[in-house]
Amino acid sequence: MTLLELDGVSVHYGRIQAVSELTLKVEEGEVVALIGANGAGKSTSMRAISGIRPLSAGRITFAGEDITKLRADLRVVRGISQVPEGRGVFPGMTVAENLDMGAYARKDRKNLQPDLDRVFDLFPRLAERRNQAGGTLSGGEQQMLAMGRALMAKPRLLLLDEPSMGLAPQFIQQIFRIVTEINKQGTTVLLVEQNAQQALTRAHRAYVLETGRITKTGTGRELLADSAIKEAYLGVA
Ligand code: ATP
Repeated sequence: MTLLELDGVSVHYGRIQAVSELTLKVEEGEVVALIGANGAGKSTSMRAISGIRPLSAGRITFAGEDITKLRADLRVVRGISQVPEGRGVFPGMTVAENLDMGAYARKDRKNLQPDLDRVFDLFPRLAERRNQAGGTLSGGEQQMLAMGRALMAKPRLLLLDEPSMGLAPQFIQQIFRIVTEINKQGTTVLLVEQNAQQALTRAHRAYVLETGRITKTGTGRELLADSAIKEAYLGVA
């Protein structure tokens, strides 16, 4: 079943067109990656899907429903949860309070314990630091906290914007392993990354975005083997 569909989506910032006629699909159960250079329009695409940025053209469908004009907070209720670029951890709140914030849109807020257990299971480090202020965590731990917070909304679709950005190599590996684990537990993932190697290794399928347009698509494996991709994104001539 197709969970997310973008059809001819364009997004502008004033006169600047950041995304041009983007068409893509994410099937339920998949990990899909959107790769591309700096400024290609990856973050803007994510903002359009989560509803933070309005479209200037096109349509977005989620689980069969046209959500093009739906408010961002209602998209969370529908099951779309975004981990923004830069993470957006609340620095003055504890880890536990940050996680609690992730569940704000849920109607079944009475019993969050199983979900909290799941997050602490995926990220034992967060369990150890549950009473520590978010702002005192390392970059990798803040990424974990942002992902854990997004999971507390019980999303059907998790949007990850550059989860590996600014992280030490051992954290990068760990974050991507956890992405695979989250997906195995039943959450569909759309991932934006500059780390094309990791993203393509983990993704079932991927789209390449160049100056706001999709220029290539295929399975992660196909794109990893593609010589033009190797040259442009994988640092292999
Ligand atoms: P990065 O990895 O640098 O975030 P990206 O692929 O996510 O790159 P976007 O951030 O989506 O790219 O940017 C796409 C284009 O839109 C760029 O030309 C960028 O300069 C422009 N842009 C992004 N945000 C804004 C904004 N708030 N106002 C004006 N232009 C913007």
